[in-house]
Parts: sequence; structure tokens; C-alpha cells
Amino acid sequence: MSAVQTLSALVLGHTDYGDTDRIVQLITAEQGRISALARGARSSKKRFTGTLELGSRIEATLRRGKGELWQFQAAELVHGHPHIRSFLESITLSAYLCEMVRELGRREQPEPKLFGLLDVALLVLDACTEPPQAAFRLGFEAKALSFAGLTPVLTQCAGCGQAADGPMIWSVSGGGMMHEACGVGPGVSSAWALAVEGFRRTPLSELVDTPAPTGGSPWLLSELMIWHQGRPLRSRELLITLEAG
Ligand SMILES: [Zn+2]
Repeated sequence: MSAVQTLSALVLGHTDYGDTDRIVQLITAEQGRISALARGARSSKKRFTGTLELGSRIEATLRRGKGELWQFQAAELVHGHPHIRSFLESITLSAYLCEMVRELGRREQPEPKLFGLLDVALLVLDACTEPPQAAFRLGFEAKALSFAGLTPVLTQCAGCGQAADGPMIWSVSGGGMMHEACGVGPGVSSAWALAVEGFRRTPLSELVDTPAPTGGSPWLLSELMIWHQGRPLRSRELLITLEAG
């Protein structure tokens, strides 16, 4: 494999490094999640102008460095999703989607589905004339969990495997819906779970006008992911407030 590669990438975040540099987290189809050092990203206005912002789609020319850190040779902006910045809720949602992919994406292993999902999600979000309804986020969460091998159980009991009948609950440790007798958690209706299973199978562009289904908290998939990762999602609290408002 060549030491220098040009990869399509989405920016998942960055941290300042030294006086003038920046370490950028990326998701790519070929190499999964990688970190890359952008030398002079904070001192030179010209070199990386506008390319390394959260959610930016870029063509990144990267040199394989020592250990896990790659080095930017060049970065070209493909799509900056400027319309997302029209709404605080859309900005927060895009940060949340990027954070989810940062948590779920495997380091330096191919992640074509997660990359493709986030790429499409940000384009759909950028095309929205107002923040999307909750089904868009639920659909994204269900797809992302599935692509990461954590498919939520939505069509039967995650405990005994039998059909959903009678009172059902949501079990984060069990991976989804369960009979009240099979697990512990907040109540959820099987109709809610079936609706979310529908979102999982529907293109994101068709979910932007669909509100959250009734019969369960709109954050149950998110809870599943937080339980699995063992740490909170930083952008979630603000998003909960904005979605509720
Ligand atoms: Zn059961």
C-alpha cells in the first residue's frame, strides 16, 4: 500500500495540537475512522480554509505517519453543507450524527456503510428548509447501530425471541424491546418499535417530515448506543432540549 493516499472523508471533529496544528478525526470508506495531523491549520489561513470544519466532506491527501496518526498533505473541500448553519437545531443534529459515527466507526478498518450513511445524512440535512422531524434522527440511529453490528431488536422480544404481545419494555442491555417478564426498562409499545423498524429500512430523505412515533421515548435508540459505548454523547443534551422545543 502506498504511503500517500487520497481519500474521500468526512470531518468528525478536531482538537488543537501544539501552537499551530490541529488533529482532525475523519471517517473514510476505505480506512474507517482515522486521525490526521494538519500542520499549521491554525496559523495559515490559506492552507485549510474552511475544509476542516465539523461535517465537511473533503478529498484528503494523507501520508501514513508513525503509529495511528496520519498527516495531511492537502485537503480539498467537496461539500461544506452551508445550509445546515441556518438552524441551531440542524447544527446540533449534525454534530450529534458526527459524534455517533465517531463512536461507532472502527479505526482503520473499512467502513463504507457508516461513511455512506453520514454522507447522505448531511446532504439531506443541508437540503432541508427547516430542521427535520425526529424520524430522520431515529432512522439514522437505527441504521448506524445496524451497520456497527448492534442492530436494535424491534420486531420481537430480545429476551425470549417470541412475538411481542402484552406489556413491552426497552432493555438497553438486552439490545431492544422485551416482554415485561423478560427484562427491565422503560415501557415501550410494539407499535413504536415497528414504526422505528420501518424507519431503519426507509431512505433518510423520506423521513424528514415524519414525527416521532408515540408509545416510547424518542431517545431509546440513543440510550442503547450510550449503554453500549459506556459514555455519554456530548451533543445529545442540547439536541434533546431543541427537539422538545
Ligand atoms: Zn420475552
